Amino acid sequence: MKQVSPFSAKLIRILIVLLLVGLIAGAAVGCADTSVPVSNANETTSKPVDGLLKVHYIDVGQGDSAFRELPDGKTILIDAGPKGQGATVVLYIKSLGHSSIDYLVATHPDADHIGGMSLVIESFAIGEVWEPSRTSNSNTYRDLQVLITARNIPRRIAQAGDLIHAADNLTATVLSPAADKTYRNDNNDWSIIIELVFGSDIFLFTGDASTAVILDAKNDKIDVLKVGHHGSNTSTDERLVSALSPDYAVFSVGKNGFGHPHLEVLNFLSTADIFRTDKQGTIIIVSDGTSITVNTAPWVFGQ
Ligand SMILES: [Zn+2]
Repeated sequence: MKQVSPFSAKLIRILIVLLLVGLIAGAAVGCADTSVPVSNANETTSKPVDGLLKVHYIDVGQGDSAFRELPDGKTILIDAGPKGQGATVVLYIKSLGHSSIDYLVATHPDADHIGGMSLVIESFAIGEVWEPSRTSNSNTYRDLQVLITARNIPRRIAQAGDLIHAADNLTATVLSPAADKTYRNDNNDWSIIIELVFGSDIFLFTGDASTAVILDAKNDKIDVLKVGHHGSNTSTDERLVSALSPDYAVFSVGKNGFGHPHLEVLNFLSTADIFRTDKQGTIIIVSDGTSITVNTAPWVFGQ
């Protein structure tokens, strides 16, 4: 074995020290890198937690977008309106002080629900994306899927019974689509229906599902109904109103050529306080778990 001279040994010790310094410096840089915001379901927002549930039915014209600030600080966005309204949704949520969204739900692949979603994903750290097991050939849908994959955001395929989030006194649960149904290949009926329960207050989000699908998912008393399919008579009839008996009914609707909201639906729901994004802008409903307040007075027929 070759003998190492004292000089060479000293040189080797210096090299080892330099190597160690380099490794420590590299590790420090690595640590610094992890402070960059990443998509993480456990990431909390910087907003202080106030213990209230706030649901913002954002005015996105003809479409749906509901942002929910949960009492434990987590956030859920259901849909992001049509393509031209993505910026409205992003600016609104940023104005509330959020830089991340824990759960992003695309109820179904129609453009008036997912059109603005790519911009949302480009603008916030997203924890998880929830989608139904229903695809589309539209460019809007394909572009969205490419972006979700590129950003490495975990995907969850929603099925009745799935728990999106639970905290003290609160659950956000998927009620539909059911595992054994194909819904006649109707995008609307594939809508993810979500029940949000906080204390004694129950909110139902119906996407564009039709009456029978909603009633399959839920057929007893709720407090707040996001009226299905922008107030179409395909989603709401007398049977549904008497089964759910909502105290508050929110129409997410804008200028459209379908006659939404249908007059008979407004009449069926006349026993509830009605709120409309097309007449009143963004509707904010706050629950403390026992009582509900709204940011505006109910809409009155004729207004
Ligand atoms: Zn729709």
